[in-house]
Amino acid sequence: MTSMSRRQLMIAATGIAAVAASPRIVFTQAAASVPTGPFKVEPLAYPVGALEPHIDALTMEIHHDRHHQAYVTNLNNLAYEHPQIAAKPIAEILGNLDNVPEAIRTGVRNNLGGHANHTMFWQIMGPGGGKPEGEVLAAIDRDLGGMEKLQSEFNANGLKLFGSGWTFVTVAKGGRLALETRPNQDSPMMDGKHALLGNDVWEHAYYLNYQNRRADYLKAWWNILNWKAIEERYVAAKAGTLGL
Ligand code: MN
Repeated sequence: MTSMSRRQLMIAATGIAAVAASPRIVFTQAAASVPTGPFKVEPLAYPVGALEPHIDALTMEIHHDRHHQAYVTNLNNLAYEHPQIAAKPIAEILGNLDNVPEAIRTGVRNNLGGHANHTMFWQIMGPGGGKPEGEVLAAIDRDLGGMEKLQSEFNANGLKLFGSGWTFVTVAKGGRLALETRPNQDSPMMDGKHALLGNDVWEHAYYLNYQNRRADYLKAWWNILNWKAIEERYVAAKAGTLGL
């Protein structure tokens, strides 16, 4: 055969398409039985557009409903075979990754870390968030040299991060604050601390609106912090009762 008619080509192409599509059908059927717990993505406490113009609604929707959900879906798949990863507080699992079976250790580190980081992230943001006050402001002044210094160093840290990761203010036992960055979805809980607040500098967090302008995103982000929630986190961390 030296040439194919148009019809033969179409039949051949259809055959290829059918072969290519069949694994998808299998996947879709399997997806119906994918475990939906024990880990869950909590709904946002505000509408997806509430942080505009600093973070646009579509970025929030994709970030929360798809990226965060993907970490949680991966976790639930891991927990299906290894229920022990859901049987202890998240801080305890992340703080003792050596106790997690080696076969799933990286998966737990990435996906449980991602779940913890994002749960914090949604919680510390909100519309009309005010200014730091009370105990948390006193700690910022004491440990980080005040708000202006904190913002400038925190943003510089976020800008310097090569690739994906987070810039954090961490809180240690006893309430001491520090500025830190972590790659990928690593969590301060891996070192027995908590994130007081943190900004996600993975490109998925800002690319639709800011493209390569990470510095602009870092600067704008301070407009949408919920300082009441951050102060509550600080008080809970000091008391040893902060979950995520
Ligand atoms: Mn993210």
